[in-house]
Amino acid sequence: MNTSVVLFTADLRLHDHPPLRAASAGGRQVVPLFVRDRGVADAGFAVPNRLAFLADCLRDLDAGLRERGGRLVLRSGEVVEEVCRVAAAADADEVHLAADVSAYAHLREERLRRALEADGRRLHVHDTVTTVVAPGALTPASSDHFAVFTPYFRRWSAQRPRDPLGAPRSLSVPDGVGSERLPSRDALPGVSAGLAAGGEVVARKRLASWLRSGLAAYEERHDDLAGDATSRLSPHLHFGTLSPAELVHRARRAGGPGAEAFVRQLAWRDFHRQVLAARPAVAAADYRTRHDHWRSGRSAEEDAEAWRQGRTGYPVIDAAMRQLRYEGWMHNRGRLLAASFLTKTLYVDWRVGARHFLDLLVDGDLANNQLNWQWVAGTGTDTRPNRVLNPVAQGRRHDPEGAYVRRWVPELAGAPGAAVHEPWKLRGADRVGIGAYPDPVVDLADGLARFRRARSKTDTELHI
Ligand code: FAD
Repeated sequence: MNTSVVLFTADLRLHDHPPLRAASAGGRQVVPLFVRDRGVADAGFAVPNRLAFLADCLRDLDAGLRERGGRLVLRSGEVVEEVCRVAAAADADEVHLAADVSAYAHLREERLRRALEADGRRLHVHDTVTTVVAPGALTPASSDHFAVFTPYFRRWSAQRPRDPLGAPRSLSVPDGVGSERLPSRDALPGVSAGLAAGGEVVARKRLASWLRSGLAAYEERHDDLAGDATSRLSPHLHFGTLSPAELVHRARRAGGPGAEAFVRQLAWRDFHRQVLAARPAVAAADYRTRHDHWRSGRSAEEDAEAWRQGRTGYPVIDAAMRQLRYEGWMHNRGRLLAASFLTKTLYVDWRVGARHFLDLLVDGDLANNQLNWQWVAGTGTDTRPNRVLNPVAQGRRHDPEGAYVRRWVPELAGAPGAAVHEPWKLRGADRVGIGAYPDPVVDLADGLARFRRARSKTDTELHI
């Protein structure tokens, strides 16, 4: 036997792909495999926006493999069974896979290892394919993971990421391993109209243009909602069409404060992954409980629905929620504000919001989504768990001309400048077209008072 299977998961690329490099070393034949995992669909994670982006990624990966003499093998079903079946059909003696962090991924890895070993095959799991630093590689003296970002970042920054690998020049795939037809995004219902395209080719172009013309101003402009001046690389990182280690190298080579701030965000990504790897239950349970008795019942559900629909009456929140629905993506500042509004001003359980985000976000990612939601809700790793973001003050600060709101909330298109953030104060001609825009679902002072009462056992900081 002289053949390896590479099971692609969240690493849908050819550049800087250690499993592919190891699998093809010494001229071995390789079966590049992707399994549409029934378990992922059963868990509710196979949502239209990510399926559409995935379809792009698989087609692009297949095209890249074909240019090199290979092709992608696609199967659907139970992942362990499918991998074993393909390994047997190809007479492969080893399977290569990138390490992943969720409880589901750990279980899959263990089951796969046992099933392969029972057939006399080996499983190789590769670290630092989907992270810069492997989860668990850095630990404080007294714990199996870092619970606070700053000390983690200090240690993380002192690491040198491994050097990125080039894409393979040629590959040899054995005959006789059948594949299903690759999916196409056109055939999928329910996809957001403004969803970005996926695939490694698109990702590498986006990265090149980001390094050339976005990175330098990132530190100054990353919170500018209307300026849209972040990299928008998150879906590519989620599906692994870009390598985070390569991103760090290339950003550091570019240098400057923009690059430093950007690399810091990539460290946040690794940080959340090492938390989830160590505490898989935090995908659904509080990391640090604050003993919240979140609102429930009809009025809480009505408020949550107004939030989902972008009809809370707070323009910057509604703009962000409508961006999410239209693009399957939301600006980070919008995510912070929308999550703070739901969990603190409306005092609705973070899981309600996290589920909605996972239903729509093209970059929807268990570690980043659940742990950012918990961070905002104050049940996670934030060292200031009771801070509340005021949507009016934040709108004025991060959308000072009101352009972001007017882009996404057409009812407010006639409102001038920053006055758009308080539509209830508009008078005369400024109110033209505003008829269909809702009144605020809650008075901010009442929301803050309710939250303070609920968290009265801890200190609440004032609106910032
Ligand atoms: P940039 O600002 O260009 O940052 C570069 C990369 O750094 C991002 O692509 C991302 O991989 C990483 N990054 C940036 N901010 C964070 C952060 N706070 N935590 C972890 N990694 C970060 N990000 C996701 O990838 N998937 C999610 O499901 C997700 N859900 C979120 C939910 C909430 C409530 C909040 C507040 C944030 C969430 N984020 C999530 C983090 C962040 O908002 C997005 O990564 C970012 O907006 C993506 O845009 P970008 O690629 O232009 O980011």
